[in-house]
Amino acid sequence: MNLALLFDEDFVAPDRAVLRGRRLAHLQSVIKVTAGDTVPVGRAGGQMGVGEVVRLTDTEAELKVTLDQSPPSPLPLTLVLAMPRPKMFRRILQTCAALGVKDLWLINSYKVEKSFWQTPWLSEEQLRENLTLGLEQAKDTLMPRVQIRKLFKPFVEDELPALLANKQALVAHPGTNTPCPVHLNQPTVLCVGPEGGFTAYEVGKLEEAGCQSVHLGPRILRVETAVPVLVSRLFDACL
Ligand code: SAM
Repeated sequence: MNLALLFDEDFVAPDRAVLRGRRLAHLQSVIKVTAGDTVPVGRAGGQMGVGEVVRLTDTEAELKVTLDQSPPSPLPLTLVLAMPRPKMFRRILQTCAALGVKDLWLINSYKVEKSFWQTPWLSEEQLRENLTLGLEQAKDTLMPRVQIRKLFKPFVEDELPALLANKQALVAHPGTNTPCPVHLNQPTVLCVGPEGGFTAYEVGKLEEAGCQSVHLGPRILRVETAVPVLVSRLFDACL
């Protein structure tokens, strides 16, 4: 936690916030704060700054908060991700939030197992918690928006074309002819497949919608590795 993300419910006055639970435990056991110390904070959806610890007990830390810095710029990226297996999903969510992805679409694909959609990590509360961990890691305050589409074909035929308007559109697919561009730095929609990859039919549908297939070389990367590699190739903000 390189920044404590503060939500409306944490504020007890316009410039005072009270931390409990995970964030308090981190302040106490990792940062080892004492009264009078300052720690980096940010208001969810707003400015970043510092919080001075004005009261510290076993159950609460009260911070006097000064918020005067903007969070880092969001990536101009819409990431369309085939729903990962639950074991990886949590980490991928945190990574996406840490990289500055603000627009995340979780879609179905032939090789996404039905059971993946049952994971508790998809609950509103768990999505917010894991995205918060990513934002706190990277020092950011802008919560990504997550959209869920459990049917591939209606999404690709009815919604994707509008998402692609005035954007570069890519699907990462091993074995295609075109290398993934570098330093693109433009509004982009990027589709990333499931553990078993998109099927030829699915790649065809994504291409029909306007996506160009690109590769990252001969090494097949796990989704959790492919996402940061793709993002850092496409956007200088990650250099
Ligand atoms: N056997 C699958 C295949 O050949 O598509 C491997 C899928 S890979 C584990 C999961 C996803 O990560 C892929 O669908 C793709 O979106 C992305 N990916 C991983 N390595 C890649 C590479 N070398 N080039 C392009 N995309 C890659």
